[in-house]
Amino acid sequence: MSAFRRPLIAGNWKMNGLREDGLALASDLARRLRDGQETPFDLLVCPPFTLIAEVGSALSNSGVLLGAQDCHAKTKGAHTGDVSAGMLADLGCKFVIVGHSERRTDHGETDADVKAKAEAAQAAGLTAIVCIGETEAERDAGQTLHVTGGQLAASLPRGAGAANTVIAYEPVWAIGTGRTPTLEEAQEIHALIRAELFGRLGPKEAECLRILYGGSMKPDNAAAFLALPDVDGGLVGGASLIADDFWAIARSCL
Ligand code: PEP
Repeated sequence: MSAFRRPLIAGNWKMNGLREDGLALASDLARRLRDGQETPFDLLVCPPFTLIAEVGSALSNSGVLLGAQDCHAKTKGAHTGDVSAGMLADLGCKFVIVGHSERRTDHGETDADVKAKAEAAQAAGLTAIVCIGETEAERDAGQTLHVTGGQLAASLPRGAGAANTVIAYEPVWAIGTGRTPTLEEAQEIHALIRAELFGRLGPKEAECLRILYGGSMKPDNAAAFLALPDVDGGLVGGASLIADDFWAIARSCL
């Protein structure tokens, strides 16, 4: 964490929760943030599309931010089953995750797709959380820095800056597995991402743009990751579904 950057703790609920579950979780988080002192972190939840409107109502005036897990690159048209960034903004979303490894794998999304989605998010006034990270095979082949650097270069939207873009480094082999990189490895890759951003965006934006770590972040390891100089928050999957755990992760920023 750095004084330049306010930590962002983002919950990716993935394809989990019916209305009752989503509302209970959102209301619980809203109450904690309302009851808490001024918090030195941003708290964000990204429910499935079906829950965004109701979760948004439950979060209103709480300070908990609302986001989504994906958007289409186009603004409207014949794209059955898809949702545009403008539709998300219309529901009160401020953020949208793009290029999560599960979308890259399940839906064949390429870096070019991710870049187009991030640009659509920007155009709709949303902040894009652009996910990058290597697979286990790439890690084993010693390709981590090469792969991650390449994804960053090809997925970063034109016009990216600290106000409209967040990068999430998520090693694919760490997502949902209980495994994580060492702290040294995480810092090395986050520092490399920031160095790339310096080259592409200039020092001012690169210094302020938040880079999240994601992959089996839990209450018992969050403080150590969040203390690293170039880790500016977390993208949290499984643990974001349990209010106590998500809140404990956020409080690790204190
Ligand atoms: C994720 O889905 O982005 C993620 C990091 O999941 P988990 O925290 O469960 O590993």
